[in-house]
Amino acid sequence: MTSQETVDHKYVYDFAEGNRDLKDLLGGKGANLAEMTNLGLPVPPGFTITTEACQAYLATGREPDGLAGQIEAHLESLERGMGRRLGDPHDPLLVSVRSGAKFSMPGMMETVLNVGLNDRSVVGLAAQAGGNERFAWDSYRRLIQMFGKTVCEVPGEEFEHALDEAKRARGTTSDLDLDADDLRGLVDAYKKIFLKHTGRDFPQEPREQLDLAIRAVFESWNAERAVLYRRQERIPADLGTAVNVVAMVFGNLGPDSGTGVAFTRDPASGAQGIYGDYLANAQGEDVVAGIRNTVPLQDLERLDKRSYDELLDIMARLEGHYRDLCDIEFTIERGKLWMLQTRVGKRTAAAAFVIAGQLVDEGLIDLDEALHRVNGAQLAQLMFPRFQLDHDFEPVARGVGASPGAASGKVVFTSARAVELAAEGEAVILVRRETNPDDLNGMIAARGILTSRGGKTSHAAVVARGMGKTCVSGADEIDVNVPAKRFTVAGQTVHEGDVVSIDGTTGKVYLGEVPVTPSEVVRYFEGTLDPHEADDALVKAVHRIMTHADAARRLAVRANADTGTDAARARRFGAQGIGLCRTEHMFLGDRRELVERLILARTDTERADALAALLPLQRDDFVEIFREMDGLPVTVRLIDPPLHEFLPPLEQLAVDVAVAQERGEDVAKEEALLAAVRRMHEENPMLGLRGVRLGLVIPGLFAMQVRAIAEAAVRVTRDGGSACPEIMVPLVGAVQELETVRAEAEKIIAEVVGDSGVEVLIGTMIEVPRAALTAGQIAEAAQFFSFGTNDLTQMGWGFSRDDVEGAFFWRYLELGIFGISPFESIDRDGVGRLVRIAAEEGRAARPGLKLGVCGEHGGDPESVHFFHSVGLDYVSCSPFRVPVARLEAGRAAVETVGSDSR
Ligand code: ADP
Ligand code: MG
Ligand code: MG
Repeated sequence: MTSQETVDHKYVYDFAEGNRDLKDLLGGKGANLAEMTNLGLPVPPGFTITTEACQAYLATGREPDGLAGQIEAHLESLERGMGRRLGDPHDPLLVSVRSGAKFSMPGMMETVLNVGLNDRSVVGLAAQAGGNERFAWDSYRRLIQMFGKTVCEVPGEEFEHALDEAKRARGTTSDLDLDADDLRGLVDAYKKIFLKHTGRDFPQEPREQLDLAIRAVFESWNAERAVLYRRQERIPADLGTAVNVVAMVFGNLGPDSGTGVAFTRDPASGAQGIYGDYLANAQGEDVVAGIRNTVPLQDLERLDKRSYDELLDIMARLEGHYRDLCDIEFTIERGKLWMLQTRVGKRTAAAAFVIAGQLVDEGLIDLDEALHRVNGAQLAQLMFPRFQLDHDFEPVARGVGASPGAASGKVVFTSARAVELAAEGEAVILVRRETNPDDLNGMIAARGILTSRGGKTSHAAVVARGMGKTCVSGADEIDVNVPAKRFTVAGQTVHEGDVVSIDGTTGKVYLGEVPVTPSEVVRYFEGTLDPHEADDALVKAVHRIMTHADAARRLAVRANADTGTDAARARRFGAQGIGLCRTEHMFLGDRRELVERLILARTDTERADALAALLPLQRDDFVEIFREMDGLPVTVRLIDPPLHEFLPPLEQLAVDVAVAQERGEDVAKEEALLAAVRRMHEENPMLGLRGVRLGLVIPGLFAMQVRAIAEAAVRVTRDGGSACPEIMVPLVGAVQELETVRAEAEKIIAEVVGDSGVEVLIGTMIEVPRAALTAGQIAEAAQFFSFGTNDLTQMGWGFSRDDVEGAFFWRYLELGIFGISPFESIDRDGVGRLVRIAAEEGRAARPGLKLGVCGEHGGDPESVHFFHSVGLDYVSCSPFRVPVARLEAGRAAVETVGSDSR
């Protein structure tokens, strides 16, 4: 910009010049004040200094050229309109200086009321208010208090102490009982506090007050709490805030004045009605500050019927205009109503669905819009059971809310005990220092999982989220002693069998049983609650919106499920197939012994025997899954993890061998295992002998799995069902790998399937960057691609998930290198680009190539939108996330790109 352009740049907008679409420039508050002004509603006049001015100020540390002049001009026109001048000792104009960013950041930034008062104009204000000195001094003390606190960082408590002191001297607890003299005294006390902390007198020059207040609002954008809030809410750091300068109206002029807040519907439940609070003889900030007890808004009808009726009228108009729940702030000055703020109001997840449904009924929005107004995060919230915390329950520890929900149960310390007690019908909480793959059965059996170590991406957290199971991880106040079957916390000891409750949303841990309410929404998805019979507005609304999402979406939604039980649940939740059936759990538990035999096999015959013993077990697993998914596709992934994961850990074996030798027992097998573990040790197991590499190195392994799949499909089909298996080869990086596996697999399939009519597809995961980059070649040999975005993320970024979160993710998030963990939401620019390239080049080589994604990203709202935009055919996620993915796929289909749902 040349300096001439800088001077001409428009930094200030009169309320009459703006509208609600200018939130980027005017902030939410300013844009909506302008909108209300142009609707002809009673808004006190004022103007908005743009976010651009704030950005310029924050970049250079000074007000941009031209700003001061524009403020001057707008102030003059405001003074003309009001017939009052800022600082006029006889009849002063007072203004408020209010922050207002694009996204509302409640309580994060600053506002100063009554700017323009000083030792002289306070007298004029009293005279203009018909000699109401109490009012004038009350306004003045408020200015010093707010200005001191927000502009000059005087500790707020000091003012509050002085106020308490004044009330005590009066023998009262209500500020209403302070008279003009008390308040005049308080102003003196406040000024002393101001001087003490700032080293200067309270500024008497109104224009200086105004400029300093504006600057303080600019700077509040970078206050620590605002920075933290933005990071948490993922609000970009560079937006800046606008500043609104608004002519003051006074709710503290006496009993016929007051101030209040209101919602056009209940923001908690969505129910229609009048929701709000009113406080007579007060200024705006009192309502929020909770200084005095407010009365329900309904009481205003009795206090001031005319204002009440007008307010209801305006609220109805605003709802009609915004076509949504609005929240408002208003003030009544001697029987005259003024609107001070409105915005589309925040609401609970339940209210979001209910309100969207109501607005459709009222003809204000259509179903596409209703779908747009809710989101997957809200739906997910509604699916978790909740604690009823109306009783006195104090948490004893707090960890990471790793997987949301609420669970109570008896403490157990081992997977085996969890399975045992669960089989007896007990609810159990599995407590471990940290979990590992061996705990899987216990985790499945438990109601919840509690660990004392590890964060959001620890094994416990990731697996629990995948299962939709409540988990608190890293509760480090808890000292777990597994051999002694107890843990200690806060000086208390909890033994196996004692009851604890964990809240996976807040990370809180309670001793004893906290009552839990199950989710109605889950009952609906599971089919045990008929939406037409339920008298629950929420379930009806969810049903209606989900039905529309299903009709609108292009993406199919499948589930990741490894067992018949998971498959059945996924299907009830609306899964249209299984996108990822892992086979490794089929090698665990009592089958471990067979895997050991396989690994230790010295001859072809020994290996073949071990595989032959595994075959019928795997086949039965597949039969169960194919039956549950009758008629729907099931993508089975051939074994992926390195085989040493199935062997006992090195240390344990070394000890076993030593102990057995000591006792003179036969240790041949243990020694062999130990040797195998040593031989198979890998520095980087993630990048080692796994996936397709196993299939190419261990003769007969994949062949056995392929045979089990094909035989299971034939059996189910012969029994009158319809099995649609899709065999997926993991970790392919080169087409030759896939071709080799495929050639062998096709022979087996042809032999097994015969004339049964079963069709088995063979495809691959795209999870190694090289596979994405050579997708055109790989597509020649693949009947489908499924993007394994977990590994693709690990290998694309070059870090292993298990190692990095604790090590440096926090720092990357802090520095803004990640806006969000790339394991949670797909990194569009990098990993997403690999997906896009592979999708395009794969389809160019094989038109109509079926494309899907498995991995946690399949259930992440943001990522679902991305996969929609890339043109995938389906996403696959954990059963519990299926409804979320359905909803988001529907939203992706009806939304225009770049629209904002915040
Ligand atoms: P927040 O964003 O924290 O709500 P606001 O800028 O809305 O802060 O202001 C705080 C309080 O002051 C609100 O209750 C508001 O209604 C009141 N207020 C702001 N400007 C004026 C004004 N010009 N006249 C009277 N009250 C005002
Ligand atoms: Mg406000
Ligand atoms: Mg993988």
